[in-house]
Amino acid sequence: MIEKTVAELSAALAAGETTSVALTQAYLEQIAAHNEALNAFITVCADSAMAQARAADEARAAGSTAPLLGIPIAHKDLFCTAGVKTTSGSKILHNFISPYDATVVERLQAAGAVMLGKTNMDEFAMGSSNESSYYGVARNPWSLDRVPGGSSGGSAAAVAADLCAMATGTDTGGSIRQPAAFCGITGLKPSYGRVSRWGMIAYASSLDQAGPLCKTAEDAAILLNVMAGVDDKDSTSISLPAEDFTATLNDSLKGLRIGLPKQHFTRGLNPAIESAVRLAVAELEKLGAEVKEIDLPNSDLAISAYYVIAPAEASANLSRFDGVRYGYRCENPVDLEDMYKRSRSEGFGEEVKRRIMIGTYALSAGFYDAYYRKAQKIRRLVKEDYARAFEDVDVIIGPTTPSPAFALNSMKDSVTMYLEDIYTIALNLAGLPGMSVPAGFVEGLPIGMQLVAKDYAEAKLLNVAHQFQQVTDWHKQKPSLTASAKTTEA
Ligand code: GLN
Repeated sequence: MIEKTVAELSAALAAGETTSVALTQAYLEQIAAHNEALNAFITVCADSAMAQARAADEARAAGSTAPLLGIPIAHKDLFCTAGVKTTSGSKILHNFISPYDATVVERLQAAGAVMLGKTNMDEFAMGSSNESSYYGVARNPWSLDRVPGGSSGGSAAAVAADLCAMATGTDTGGSIRQPAAFCGITGLKPSYGRVSRWGMIAYASSLDQAGPLCKTAEDAAILLNVMAGVDDKDSTSISLPAEDFTATLNDSLKGLRIGLPKQHFTRGLNPAIESAVRLAVAELEKLGAEVKEIDLPNSDLAISAYYVIAPAEASANLSRFDGVRYGYRCENPVDLEDMYKRSRSEGFGEEVKRRIMIGTYALSAGFYDAYYRKAQKIRRLVKEDYARAFEDVDVIIGPTTPSPAFALNSMKDSVTMYLEDIYTIALNLAGLPGMSVPAGFVEGLPIGMQLVAKDYAEAKLLNVAHQFQQVTDWHKQKPSLTASAKTTEA
């Protein structure tokens, strides 16, 4: 049962073929068997999960038809969960127990989902490999000596290894799409504002967005139905008419206009990934889509602009962690200044400190115009590139990442790691929705195809991805967990 999709589990529960208690028990057993190797979970909530499962079964017996009733989920450890530790992957929040639920958590709970626990992640979502987590790296189920991607690496590994049926993640520059690609699952970053950020520990507020990591596009649609929607606690959430994202999954792709950005098929891209993505696009052509090359002339500038804007916002957001209000406090401070300094020096990891310093520098009086304002101008240019492209095409397709999952400890410097996000980051600058779907294997590892649509056109993305998954079976491939365990021993 644990390998089934959310749609299948939902049908099985409705038909009485299984119960939430049985399912939850099965996922907890899978976690017990494999989490030590994968380190996908920071916290497992076995008792409360079983209690929620019993309540779900009772609610079903009483006639409830909540869409996710009784289906086990895992949340990235930056979603606040009332009464459960929320670390954001950092030592500075090692003992933080949130007094309230994030809106996303609350909505999924109201829809009946059973929370299995909280997943591993790069510290404060800064990273592309999960290696910056204070709680140790999460591992890729396809090969334990590879990273699962980041920053939502624990969520991606957990879904890929059937440690949960579905998971939440967040994406500031690629953190849902890149780990989805590396772990061979489906991940959706919604348009900025589509999902409430309330209760999500902020990294870069103008870029952060929550979304689902799951096994299929259909599951992503089911989850987005629950997660999306305006929230008066988040003034950047958008009020749009309610949509059923599953309603258009089966629309025909006849006449769909696909754009392939020439900048996404050049130097730096692993040639085997290029061939896999081109074959995937050919499948969509067989379904009636038309393909043309497009130009996104400012693509090369996106990473540089992001690495000014994101650290600038992070330096402001992370100023609240000062040893006073919550989280880690240094021992025996001699005065207030000492407490601030040592709590932050001891509580934050290296990458987080680097970003705080870059951000503080970029925002300082003499440098604001040279860096921050210029980065915002580039952001506008990037957004305009996409707007222009969408005058001629409905979706833009390319690889999600330039390479398959890389080996643990193989990135020698931060800038090489930053370049991992070369195809994903522009969407966050532009606020656009994007998805990664499994599109083949390279060196025995899964790779992803990225689909991008106009603002708020998630339904279109999900439709294209679902149709693709009707004619391919890349998303059905499973890692062999015992085989991957052997790789590491060897
Ligand atoms: N890898 C990027 C970063 O380190 C993006 C991370 C994310 O999307 N949260 O900032």
